[in-house]
Amino acid sequence: MTASSSSQIPDQPFLDALNRLDLAAEHTSIPGEALQRLKHPQSIAEVNIPTRMDDGSLRIFKGYRVRHNDSRGPGKGGIRYHPEVDLEEVKALAFWMTCKCAVVDLPFGGAKGGIIVNPKELSPLELERLSRGFIRTLGDFIGPETDVPAPDVYTNSMIMGWMMDEYSKMVRKRTLSVVTGKPIPIGGSLGRHEATGRGGYYCLKELEAKQGWKPRDIRVAIQGFGNAGQHVARLLHHDGYRVVAVSDSKGGIYHRDGLNVPELIEAKNRRTSLQEVYCTDSVCDLTKADFMTNDELLRSDVDVLIPAALGGVITRENANDIQAEVILEMANGPITSKADTILSRKKKLVIPDILANAGGVTVSYFEWTQNRTGWYWKQEEVNSKLAEIIQRELDALFSVMQEKQLDMRTAAYVAALNRIGEAVGCLGTQSYYQQQI
Ligand code: NAD
Repeated sequence: MTASSSSQIPDQPFLDALNRLDLAAEHTSIPGEALQRLKHPQSIAEVNIPTRMDDGSLRIFKGYRVRHNDSRGPGKGGIRYHPEVDLEEVKALAFWMTCKCAVVDLPFGGAKGGIIVNPKELSPLELERLSRGFIRTLGDFIGPETDVPAPDVYTNSMIMGWMMDEYSKMVRKRTLSVVTGKPIPIGGSLGRHEATGRGGYYCLKELEAKQGWKPRDIRVAIQGFGNAGQHVARLLHHDGYRVVAVSDSKGGIYHRDGLNVPELIEAKNRRTSLQEVYCTDSVCDLTKADFMTNDELLRSDVDVLIPAALGGVITRENANDIQAEVILEMANGPITSKADTILSRKKKLVIPDILANAGGVTVSYFEWTQNRTGWYWKQEEVNSKLAEIIQRELDALFSVMQEKQLDMRTAAYVAALNRIGEAVGCLGTQSYYQQQI
């Protein structure tokens, strides 16, 4: 895989997502009209953000925020800064957030946002003006009880802090719970930074217990060495797993005995801090190991493959070559639906994104709760509550898989749709009104 993955993202990711919805719906009791609602995002904001550049010129950046469905609570979902942000993809990501929040039973609906920008080309001050401008332009499209953003690809806690600060200025009161993933001193939660990786790690620990794995025997490859990828790598390495390959946008490295993950993270982050907001260094420069491309990493001979970068990287072109028996989807939508069919035929176990990376939104929920109560939790409390939720829901999915003879992704959608269907049903469906007449 090269630095740009646009050619691998399905043309119509939202339609791709709806295909999966229809497949799963056959196994649920969801009312037809609830399904109908899920096929149409509830509201879409398309904004143009005028931004003053350091040389005095003005640039207009395009951004989106999609609120997919708020039947179960306020919209919740990240904001992505990337040159390939596109509305169809944001709609798909918002749809997945609706399902993800339902799978882990959080009182949220789904939303997502993004700006078409290459943030690595902006100075920190330009980035701040753009981020604050996005919030001003969105206006009351977001809010603690309407829609609550969080970080995603190439956005971080400092950007979330700027966004919370700008919103607070707009409404003239400190409103910590409008955004999650903030820095700790301004309302962030302990454990949020690593929560996405930690949630994925808890999924694998459950599997370890169920399948009797010995960590040293398990070889892991991770595509993407950012927030999600680094933390799952660190936790697995700590438990003795052999993380044999990792990559970033510039390519990957491989060592058959396992890489020294803490050293790699330390070196990469040391250089990042020199770059102030973004890492522009590649893991390829940091450790003595063999070089491999992103595509080779996906096809490598490992036991567990963790796509933790962008969507649409496992397609019908490379799905037949995937050797890993277990795929943990830390990224959102890394496997297209056609590839999914191939992997399912090959009896691969895919732990789907809507559970595998739900650790982030779960601790975002904890952050939102702490902001609203003013009572802040210790890191151990955050971790143990997260572990309890992930283990509970993974176990529930195994039961659905067995009972209905489904793959884990379909089981996850079934669980999500049943919960969303219940919420929609509480406000009345056609059958309710017909009985009243
Ligand atoms: P990040 O910006 O911290 O890291 C992204 C990583 O992907 C970087 O290492 C980057 O170099 C790499 N990358 C970018 N383009 C690539 C390419 N074409 N090929 C290979 N690697 C590439 O982002 P993140 O927060 O770690 O998010 C990664 C994935 O996890 C995304 O799909 C995101 O939606 C998903 N996710 C993140 C969170 C979270 O809380 N951070 C929560 C849920 C899901």
